[in-house]
Amino acid sequence: MIHGPCGVLNPYSPCMADGICTKGYPKQFREATAENVDGYPMYRRRDNANHVTINGTYVDNRWIVAYNPYLTKKYNAHINVEICSSITSIKYIFKYLQGS
Ligand SMILES: [Zn+2]
Repeated sequence: MIHGPCGVLNPYSPCMADGICTKGYPKQFREATAENVDGYPMYRRRDNANHVTINGTYVDNRWIVAYNPYLTKKYNAHINVEICSSITSIKYIFKYLQGS
């Protein structure tokens, strides 16, 4: 699954606000998965020159959306899956579930 394109490639994308992608794309290349200050994962994104060209746009690992192949196939839907390991993100999930 690929996000965008947005940013300078498509400033009118629905994810854009004040000239910045609200989802944080393109992500940075990273050698190892780490956790940011809010408890969200910053996944490893290899700078290995793997890319595709979609409608003339060069897309590499910075634009890939986290997903789980099993859930995507089972529900035939785009499901964004991220690991939650900090108390901040777990509190967020319970708050989100109680609100829905
Ligand atoms: Zn975006």
